Amino acid sequence: MQKTLQRYIEKNRAIAVQGEVADYIPELRKASVNTLGATVATADGDVVSAGDCSTQMTMQSVSKVMTLILALMDLGEEAVFSRVGMEPTGDPFNSIYKLEVRREAKPLNPMINAGAIAVSSMIVGKSVEDRLERIMDLVRVMSGNPDISYSREVYESEAAYGDRNRALAYFLKEHGMIEDVEEVLDLYFRQCAIVVTCEDLAKIGLCLAQFGRNAEGRQVVPPDIARLVKTFMVTCGMYDESGEFAIRVGIPAKSGVSGAIMASVPNRMGIGVVGPALNKRGNSVAGVKLLEDIAREWELSIF
Ligand code: GLN
Repeated sequence: MQKTLQRYIEKNRAIAVQGEVADYIPELRKASVNTLGATVATADGDVVSAGDCSTQMTMQSVSKVMTLILALMDLGEEAVFSRVGMEPTGDPFNSIYKLEVRREAKPLNPMINAGAIAVSSMIVGKSVEDRLERIMDLVRVMSGNPDISYSREVYESEAAYGDRNRALAYFLKEHGMIEDVEEVLDLYFRQCAIVVTCEDLAKIGLCLAQFGRNAEGRQVVPPDIARLVKTFMVTCGMYDESGEFAIRVGIPAKSGVSGAIMASVPNRMGIGVVGPALNKRGNSVAGVKLLEDIAREWELSIF
């Protein structure tokens, strides 16, 4: 397993140069285009890593899965889906377009920025710090890593340049979907800056693959919520590349602009990938190809 992973990482590293590191969040520019690493955590208890797997990255949009889980655990499906939909958009992750043309301010799904901002506004807690701590606690129990924290630099960098997200949030406020814009954004920018490694992502993927049971065997997320978020990962997890990804790879996965991908093969394994060079859709260019290769090799497609 390790040798196969290593071989496909070496093969796909060359593809990474076709992509570009996200630059709209200045701190993310520091990542290297050549970085590519992955960890696989299986239901049998094996943890296998290859390439630049110890690279630390921020979760970015992978955190949208965490907040969706927490909001569902806190408030239940009815309340959550009264403020965010269940349909893919086919638009870029930070698009404002559908919010306006549909004349309905309810964002189409929780995996795009508008939807994730609406979900973050539902996280229960006394303060932003308290809510962030609850999100990080969920990451800690799902990954089995008690040391999870967030990057102040990346958070501040995004907060300083996050005008598109500010625009989305003010639009949501205008239509009564959220209240305190700056507070919600403050939480959203911080959750995006939670720092993880491939192993953390693989273990989170494994936890979802085991229907909410983490690597230590503890049920930390209700099974029906684990199933629900994996379904969102299939339909919306790779933004406007979700359809092609489902066909070529066929694994529930969620990407982030840091080049992170968290993938979950039901009952079998979780996979964490780091590859900061992104394609036009904002997904790790080499990471997607790597997953395509290993999905074929190990017959991982769920379809
Ligand atoms: N923090 C990023 C943003 O809001 C997350 C987007 C992403 O990872 N695609 O723009």
